[in-house]
Amino acid sequence: MEELNEDMKTVANDPNMFSDVPLEAEVQDDTILKVDHLKMYFPIKKNLLGKPIVNLKAVDDVSFAVKRGTTIGVVGESGCGKTTLGRTILKLYEANGGSILFEGEELTKLKKKQMRKYRTDIQLIFQDPYSSLPPRMTVGSIIAEPVRVHKIVPKKEVYNYVLDIMQKCGLPPQYYDRYPHEFSGGQRQRICIARALAVQPKLVICDEPVSALDVSIQAQIINLLKDLQNNIGLTYVFISHDLSVVKYITEQILVMYLGNVMELGETDEIFSNPLHPYTKALFSAVPVPNPDVKMNRIILEGDIPSPANPPKGCKFHTRCAQCMNVCKFKEPAYIEAAPGHHVACHLYDEEVMAHLDEYDAEFADLEEARLRMEEEAKAKKNAKQKIIAAFASCKHGLAKAGAKCKGLFTRKRGAADELAADGAGEQPADELAADEPAAVAAGRMPYDDDEPAAVKPDERAAGEQPAEKPAADAFDTVAAGKMPYDD
Ligand code: SF4
Repeated sequence: MEELNEDMKTVANDPNMFSDVPLEAEVQDDTILKVDHLKMYFPIKKNLLGKPIVNLKAVDDVSFAVKRGTTIGVVGESGCGKTTLGRTILKLYEANGGSILFEGEELTKLKKKQMRKYRTDIQLIFQDPYSSLPPRMTVGSIIAEPVRVHKIVPKKEVYNYVLDIMQKCGLPPQYYDRYPHEFSGGQRQRICIARALAVQPKLVICDEPVSALDVSIQAQIINLLKDLQNNIGLTYVFISHDLSVVKYITEQILVMYLGNVMELGETDEIFSNPLHPYTKALFSAVPVPNPDVKMNRIILEGDIPSPANPPKGCKFHTRCAQCMNVCKFKEPAYIEAAPGHHVACHLYDEEVMAHLDEYDAEFADLEEARLRMEEEAKAKKNAKQKIIAAFASCKHGLAKAGAKCKGLFTRKRGAADELAADGAGEQPADELAADEPAAVAAGRMPYDDDEPAAVKPDERAAGEQPAEKPAADAFDTVAAGKMPYDD
């Protein structure tokens, strides 16, 4: 550990630590990065034509500027859009709107090939030093690869150049041939820093570079970053949720909530005089290293709203203890409350505060309209439910009637089957009815004879006389001069 600290002291005291890096020992007072109304939306629902209809607004209208050789801290709760902001600046995501000016060049309009020129100028240090290093490459080859690809130094000088960078980042030369898994978290983060610095960047986006490290290693890495900045004039965008670290390393702070900037200003000014209720709540959680000082923690009530469906008006109003009626429907303007200290809150907007009565009346009207709409929607819903219920009962009645008919039909068919099964000679009632005209045509009444008509032709064929025969013979008998009963 002492050896490493010694290394860092050497780094801090050696202004020519990167012999091949064009040094900018004197920090120029010019803007290296200017982000203007930057928007980065992720579509979460698309229509049939593939057009996004619901977006997750990860970065929504963010503006800030960073001076060369300084550090801006981006703070906020998890999911507020800090990392997305860093990646959009790097053009790892294509912005949906706004501009990113890097040294006067508009990055959002550059094509992939044109962006190659700026790839070495803007570098990223990742949060997780474990997964951001290729496990099958040695430390030397990890650092040397971007140097070769971007032709930072002639080929034969790469080895010495890498050793030099490693030494400046507190990595002894014997680590050159070792693999990432042989190192601790702090050493891996040093490898990541060495890899980022090897291409001589001007701007480094540090995405929570120390959050995966323990406190003593955090201090080493933070000191290393500060020393590098002092010596080669690096500019950092330092993304973190650790406010103590941010206070130590940054000159400016940008507070984000649900993709929006809530407050922006000089670090000392923001820490001594936080204005936004959200910043106050965040900073109230920073531990004070004095047991006599009583901490006044501000606990935020309620859940963080979904970034896919953020609240109207001020996005923070659902959790703000100082919320007013105007906050619920009017988005706060981004105003300069003090020189260089910007805040997005109605409390510091004199125009809004002077007309609170009017806004209260407007809110009352809006609430009335909302309640009316809710009532109408409720009534519509009830009517719809009634129609659905009536339709369901009608459907039930139809189903019941259908079942009844089916039962009757089944019973009738069963009876017919039974009749058919009772005997081959017996005809069902329907058949008898069909034979009635034939019986009448044969000169008898259908109810005169119990015998089925179908049987009669057979009987005639067998020489048997049907019942009518004697009656017919009676006429012959009378015609022969004798009575039919005179046998
Ligand atoms: S605008 Fe209103 S709701 Fe938003 S932070 Fe300010 S006081 Fe709170």
